[in-house]
Amino acid sequence: MNKRDYYEVLGVSKSASQDEIKSAFRKLAKKYHPDVSKEPNAAEKFKEAQEAYAVLSDANKRKQYDQFGHQAFNNNGGAGGFSGFEGFDMSDIFDDILGGFGFGGFTSSSSRRSANGPKKGNDVLYKMTITFDEAVHGTKKDIRLDVMDECPECHGKGGFNAKTCSECRGSGTITSEQRTLFGTFLNKTTCPNCHGTGTTYERKCTECRGTGSVRKTKTITVDVPAGADTHTRLRINGKGEAGTNGGRPGDLYIDLTVKSHEIFTREDDDIYLDLPISIADAVLGCKKEVPTIYGKVDLTIPAGIQGGNKLKLRGKGVEDVLTHRKGDMYVVVKVVIPEKLTREEKKIFENLRDVTKEDNSWLKKIKKFLNN
Ligand SMILES: [Zn+2]
Ligand SMILES: [Zn+2]
Repeated sequence: MNKRDYYEVLGVSKSASQDEIKSAFRKLAKKYHPDVSKEPNAAEKFKEAQEAYAVLSDANKRKQYDQFGHQAFNNNGGAGGFSGFEGFDMSDIFDDILGGFGFGGFTSSSSRRSANGPKKGNDVLYKMTITFDEAVHGTKKDIRLDVMDECPECHGKGGFNAKTCSECRGSGTITSEQRTLFGTFLNKTTCPNCHGTGTTYERKCTECRGTGSVRKTKTITVDVPAGADTHTRLRINGKGEAGTNGGRPGDLYIDLTVKSHEIFTREDDDIYLDLPISIADAVLGCKKEVPTIYGKVDLTIPAGIQGGNKLKLRGKGVEDVLTHRKGDMYVVVKVVIPEKLTREEKKIFENLRDVTKEDNSWLKKIKKFLNN
């Protein structure tokens, strides 16, 4: 499958801002919208742009795409929930595009909205710090959030004793005919009486002053997946601020910061551990018990190991948050040269020096220069 790069599809740079991405997509959508475009392959081009926009306009998906490319959304390799574009709301853009033609001859799949119509609630960003172990193994955390939530009095409706709007007879839109040189167009506008909801109320809710939402402290359980890392951004659908006039709620984004560990360091999905050993252990080889993030293991250190050598423990790294494949662990050997010796140790080292044969090839080269 030779898919074009999403940035290339939209014709923006990798560092493009959300505004640039939106404006690039808007241009393409205007050009290729199947309802209006006469370009060849308009439907395909439109679909391609739509898919690119669905990913790049979503901070979380964009990050995954930057990190993993198209395979981030590949059903075969990707984790559930990261594939597909279901639930993606294009209505903002379509309202912009279709509104931009100046008259209401076109209909989009979503309802047209005005400033007073149903509005999606704001997204909320929450910065959360977790421990190294919590990030590695996953955790559930309760957070308290102060957000605009659905008014409990009127259940978000803003009033009581609902009636069908008499102006628009419940449709939320007022249709009028507009005759122009090019023919007659049906002009649809949002009903000013009910603000597009199709419903009016006999009594306005006093709790929320008719807005349908109130400020409330909510406790939300955040499910941090195993393998999360600093800068992993989680999206919790619908846990942002309540929408207004029947609009759906915004989303909650969790921005993670992972605290460093006392002995382990992490590089992507691999774990590193420095292990100091004595000269004798390095020369003769030894067995050492070492901690891993999954418990302790026995590590065989071969005779003659050099300081800085890395020993790999396959599969003892972090499980990848997306693919669930486990990284590896590397034990980095640090040979400790003693700075103070007991008399006995000194004697042993002196004896060792006397019997040591220097048969190193590099040393032989050095000696050649000493003999000149
Ligand atoms: Zn109305
Ligand atoms: Zn209310």
